[in-house]
Amino acid sequence: MFSRSLIACLGVSLCWMVVAGCDNSDTAANPVSANVVKKVESESVMSEQPAKTVTGKYNELDEQESYVILEKGTERPGDGGYTLTKDAGTYICRQCNAALYSSKHKFISHCGWPSFDDEIEGAVERHPDIDGRRVEIVCANCQGHLGHVFEGERLTDKNIRHCVNSISMKFIADGEELPAMIKSVD
Ligand SMILES: [Zn+2]
Repeated sequence: MFSRSLIACLGVSLCWMVVAGCDNSDTAANPVSANVVKKVESESVMSEQPAKTVTGKYNELDEQESYVILEKGTERPGDGGYTLTKDAGTYICRQCNAALYSSKHKFISHCGWPSFDDEIEGAVERHPDIDGRRVEIVCANCQGHLGHVFEGERLTDKNIRHCVNSISMKFIADGEELPAMIKSVD
């Protein structure tokens, strides 16, 4: 009977119920591997903050950028912007050029906004959202609004989803020079 159930496990490894019933089997699949959300694979080297920093005024923002970045608005969900992009590179802050996310952190969550399960170290701050429920994420350098972060959804191994407005970021492809990060004159 044991071998029959083992074969059932191997044959139906995508079935969570069967996998859950074979916890003691060495062949039990990792439940995470059955998730339909696929991590974006990239051969690029992990990006880091650009060495260059300049002091001065932040990049000018247009009306829609200001609404999201300064007034903590949210752009409409959909497949536009960077929601579905998979190119290798770095997502930097639209306002101050700080490197925020590597394309290696990006995954397709189908939530309507770009999603990342990690950030470039030290680049993103978390604050309690004024709605009292969510956790807001902002650029650590300029405090520009990025979006919100959610944990425990089990969408990737890291179990974290940074839900980021495309308009808060700018994509720099691998091979292109990262612009200097702007430090405010204040
Ligand atoms: Zn910034």
